[in-house]
Amino acid sequence: MLVDLDYFYAQAEETRNPSIRDKPVVVCVYSGRSEDSGAVSTANYIARKYGVRSGIPIFQAKKKLENVNAVFLPVDDAFYEEISERIMAILRSHADRFEQTGIDEAFLDVTEKTGGDFQEAKKLAQAIKNELKTRLALTSSIGIGPNKLIAKIAADNQKPDGLTIIESEQVEAFLSPLPVGRLIGVGTKTREKMQTLGINTIGDLAKYDVQKLISIFGKVLGVYFHDASLGLDDAPVQEKNEVESFSRISTLKEDTRDLSSILERTNQLCNEIYNVTLQQKLVFKTVGISVVLNDMSVHTRSRTLETPVDNVEVLEEIVKELFEKFLSETVLEARRVGVKVSNLVKEQKSQKQITSFFNATPN
Ligand SMILES: [Mg+2]
Repeated sequence: MLVDLDYFYAQAEETRNPSIRDKPVVVCVYSGRSEDSGAVSTANYIARKYGVRSGIPIFQAKKKLENVNAVFLPVDDAFYEEISERIMAILRSHADRFEQTGIDEAFLDVTEKTGGDFQEAKKLAQAIKNELKTRLALTSSIGIGPNKLIAKIAADNQKPDGLTIIESEQVEAFLSPLPVGRLIGVGTKTREKMQTLGINTIGDLAKYDVQKLISIFGKVLGVYFHDASLGLDDAPVQEKNEVESFSRISTLKEDTRDLSSILERTNQLCNEIYNVTLQQKLVFKTVGISVVLNDMSVHTRSRTLETPVDNVEVLEEIVKELFEKFLSETVLEARRVGVKVSNLVKEQKSQKQITSFFNATPN
């Protein structure tokens, strides 16, 4: 199955501030050149009703939402990554094999778990959707198919909050009427080229002579397009170990400069992060903190060690030192505090953790 979170950045913003849920929400990448220069990254479905789409200029989006009580927000990558980690931990726990393909989507091979039964897979998908909803207040769309290609197209079939199951014997009927652009790998140029050949639907492509496809698109693509149009795909779901960091951020009960109340919170965050790294048998060389001050300015500090940390007390101690130093540099109060570990490496057994701490070098 492919699990894809709906309008992810904008939905993440809605979980942070539920009062914007019933308004158009537009998450933007501001280029900084002038107040409204830049482009829309993600819009929620209410904003989409007004014609706001990913990629359009911000000023155009504002025009479409003129006289509407709309919310425009800048992208907050650290926040989305933090939520993404929580999503992926949930998804991973339900998969025989797991492959994250984006910040908000992943393939789950559930063949063994479901005994290859599509009805069992449907129940599992519904349970995953419910878990994402109750634990993270996020909706998702899931596609289930006999392979990754079909699962992906199925997930795109019904959004938001969709669940589409395509069993092996349904593949041809499902694919055949779809526009050919729905196939992975058929971009705008290829689609236009195919249209000049009279290929508009995936069904048209399936009927097209494979030798002709090869002569037009080359051997690799020609064969791929032919196979894909028939729903053939045998690529395995494969774990890619490319997680680069783990982070947690939390809002303090009240704005404060008091180190012990800050550490009380960050020690919890350290423990959460440490448990995740432990579970995945990873250790880390870089420890960072982030602070949102009461003037809403965002600050980060980090320290990289020569050898990896695999001990939560050491993590807490480094975080403490980073905060001590940071608080000595500002007179403002902290509003939100975060901890991040990066520079991840697979754990090795004979590790001397404590020496790594004394070799600490600030950066
Ligand atoms: Mg998505």
